[in-house]
Amino acid sequence: MFDPLHLIDGEWCAEEGVAPIQVLNPSDGQPLLEIARGGQASVDKAVAAAQNALDGDWGQLDAAERGSLMFRLSALVLDHADKLAELEALDVGKPLKQAKADAIACARYFEFYGGAADKLHGQTIPYKNGYTVMTVREPHGVTAHIIPWNYPMQIIGRSVGAALAMGNACVVKPGEDASQTALYIGKLALEAGFPKGALNIVTGFGGEAGAALSSHPGVRHISFTGSTEVGRLIQKAGAENTIPVTLELGGKSPQLVFADADIDAALPFLVNASIQNAGQTCSAGSRLLIQDSIYDEVVGRIADAFNALQVGPALQDLNVGPVINAKQCDRVKGFIADAKASGLPVLGEGKIVSDAPDGGFYVAPTFFGEVSPDHRLAQEEVFGPVLAAIRFKDEADALRIANGTKYGLVAGVWTRDGARQMRLARKLEAGQVFVNNYGAGGGVELPFGGMKGSGHGREKGFEALYGFSTSKTIAVNHN
Ligand code: NAP
Ligand code: MG
Repeated sequence: MFDPLHLIDGEWCAEEGVAPIQVLNPSDGQPLLEIARGGQASVDKAVAAAQNALDGDWGQLDAAERGSLMFRLSALVLDHADKLAELEALDVGKPLKQAKADAIACARYFEFYGGAADKLHGQTIPYKNGYTVMTVREPHGVTAHIIPWNYPMQIIGRSVGAALAMGNACVVKPGEDASQTALYIGKLALEAGFPKGALNIVTGFGGEAGAALSSHPGVRHISFTGSTEVGRLIQKAGAENTIPVTLELGGKSPQLVFADADIDAALPFLVNASIQNAGQTCSAGSRLLIQDSIYDEVVGRIADAFNALQVGPALQDLNVGPVINAKQCDRVKGFIADAKASGLPVLGEGKIVSDAPDGGFYVAPTFFGEVSPDHRLAQEEVFGPVLAAIRFKDEADALRIANGTKYGLVAGVWTRDGARQMRLARKLEAGQVFVNNYGAGGGVELPFGGMKGSGHGREKGFEALYGFSTSKTIAVNHN
């Protein structure tokens, strides 16, 4: 195991005299563990340690040597996947199978980016006679990674993986509700042989450790995943220090189902995209746009699937676990009550199993029909297992509704018409468009990020390496 302390400069530590934070188990609402509460002092130490690593052992490594360390970390994450899955399931409340998939994805990120560490090449540029001009990619320096509670392992893999590959040194601030896997990955990184200070982890509250980290003058890049509200604060903090920020802020992602679609193939994707991780997924397919002529058939089949969903403790490994905490539970239930009060029909509803502990943060997955495109349920991110069905007439109508929110993260298109697939893929306002699939099984290799209110910058895939590095032009006059 590990101690739930900060990992700074290769050492486990906490601020003296500061009481730890009590973390609850969302499956029963009971105390789970205590984590260290970091503030300015821990962040100062972590940023200094990261800078020392850049100036020392970590900064001296060849790109391929960084890659080898990352391969070792990837293998260790795989070896410990069951343990990591259990910790994530206890922290987040997600069913074990989903947590295990996250651990495997995390390992895959470290493997993918380990392999990429020595493959981002610069250019030579034809210029005046007697000059040779080249570009080189360089790390930013110390990078900050503010991680939410919904997919800690995956988001650490994708953002820290890309940052380490490019030679940055990282300071990670996990969500206060779910820090265990971040710390465990930190322990594995030490075992893999990463030089001290290359990867530092400070746990604590967003308003304390998170705010101290995002405004720290020693930080050269911030990667943030979370709410739009905090994302704005992060961008402002970045502006104060004129550093780049990557913002991944969630969405209200539509799935468009046309009359000519293969409904049998679509069905599991349409259901899963809305209830995976109890709907607490930035790319959740939470708006289901269905063409008029097949509306009744499709909503009937989805309703059947919702009625069969079982909700219970993470370790029971059912379809859906609890949501993360009491606040989020109240928020999601508020959306459901509001939708019912406005007269929207409940077409399907999952069941909370009878032995689910009373204190757990359970919400029955709920499927609403006849949602109008301007209803709150069609406009705002619920971040819970709630799906809204919306009717459309034709392609133009579908496109208008799909693009008619402040968000633009992901979209799904279900149709057999090839020209329509491409027309929509090009016109949908989303960072990723999936045709006759949704999510592409996670897609470590596929660039990901938002348009509009869903944020900016890209993580995942090779493209993330550009964001986590900077270009330098070197012009040599050899006349
Ligand atoms: P959040 O407050 O935005 O949290 C995201 C991360 O930012 C956490 O590590 C959080 O730490 C940290 N943070 C909070 N305040 C900060 C500040 N002032 N400065 C720097 N860092 C700060 O999200 P949340 O409260 O956990 O969830 C609220 C809503 O955000 C959800 O209902 C959902 O709509 C959205 N959300 C979206 C995603 C996504 O993947 N796009 C993920 C999570 C949440 P603490 O957790 O310790 O506060
Ligand atoms: Mg918060």
